[in-house]
Amino acid sequence: MADIALVGVSKRYQNGFEAVKNIDLKIVDGDFLVLVGPSGCGKSTLLRMIAGLEEITAGDVVIGDRVVNDESPKERDIAMVFQNYALYPHMTVRKNIGYSLRLAGLARAEIDERVEHVAALLQLTDLLDRKPGLLSGGQRQRVAMGRAIVRQPAAFLMDEPLSNLDAKLRVQMRAEVAKLQRDLAVTTVYVTHDQVEAMTMGTRVAVLKNGVLQQVGTPQELYSRPSNVFVASFIGSPSMNLFRGKIVTSGGMIGVDLGSQALAIPEATVRATPELAGFAGREIIMGLRPESFGEPGIPGDQRETLRVAVELVESLGAGKVVHASTDARSVCVEEREQSPLLAAPDGAPCVATLGPKASLEVGSMVDLPVDTSDIQLFDAVVGDNLCKDY
Ligand code: ATP
Repeated sequence: MADIALVGVSKRYQNGFEAVKNIDLKIVDGDFLVLVGPSGCGKSTLLRMIAGLEEITAGDVVIGDRVVNDESPKERDIAMVFQNYALYPHMTVRKNIGYSLRLAGLARAEIDERVEHVAALLQLTDLLDRKPGLLSGGQRQRVAMGRAIVRQPAAFLMDEPLSNLDAKLRVQMRAEVAKLQRDLAVTTVYVTHDQVEAMTMGTRVAVLKNGVLQQVGTPQELYSRPSNVFVASFIGSPSMNLFRGKIVTSGGMIGVDLGSQALAIPEATVRATPELAGFAGREIIMGLRPESFGEPGIPGDQRETLRVAVELVESLGAGKVVHASTDARSVCVEEREQSPLLAAPDGAPCVATLGPKASLEVGSMVDLPVDTSDIQLFDAVVGDNLCKDY
């Protein structure tokens, strides 16, 4: 078991494309780090550089106290689990799991003992004599995990290992893999493009965009303190609502002017970010999570409100998702372009998640109460969070 550190790691492919740019990242021994980002952001490239399957253009990969840049994948003492399982179809589960131990020349008795221990851990004991063709997708995935675990490596590297499973099985397996990792406490780097997988499995999550590390933190940190608009909109489902506005000050109050309506910024936020007072007149992007909205029309509700036109109400049983539009200017966060914040047409959309009893009529204008304590304010040009100290 070991720490993994990436120090100024970059990758430029032969055609000149720079897929990973100057990444510094430390994965502490026993941690479960999820690398997440949109397709093409460089996740697999980074993982493959840690594994030794891809050459590093600049920087160092350190495993334990060794710089491993020039070591082969085998010498690095890590086990990889891939999306396609890569099982040998002609071998039984027992032989698939024990294969690397046989190659390493271990004695038969020790191989049997280790394979049976891992099979018990993964509930594969009854399937040891079957071949992969007779297993379900989830069982094959467990065999692939078993093959990695049996080697007792210093670290696991996993590249979208659950993406071939159907939605229900994926949810089940993600809990199993997370629990297994916690029990084994082996340093793990896990790649996914699915932010829900990242949030539910990782002890820490690193968000990548265009080969650049955007933020690393616990799932809760990324959710409640996103460092920029990209992280804010990528993490969370439904996504954070984003509106263009302007900071205004009046009589000691600071607010966000959205055009025909305005929201006051709570005192606690202003106290935590005294520089806001100097931002009067500045264009910003305001972010509100869907759950920051409440049911309208409750007597005595003193909260600030946002006027929206209700367009669609989805009933999910446990709650309702309200899709609405506002007259505020909207923001388009482009995942792949260098310029993060493109101009978008006016009439910013707004999604609110409300309780099951909320009653909103499609086509009506309503004043949705807003819990402004979770308000996020971002620079309108580069998208950095203005409220928090990063
Ligand atoms: P996905 O989720 O779609 O697998 P990813 O985040 O894992 O994406 P990578 O596979 O790391 O992305 O690719 C990062 C970028 O590098 C992509 O734009 C890809 O087209 C490019 N790329 C990958 N391999 C090569 C290569 N051999 N030569 C040139 N460019 C490459």
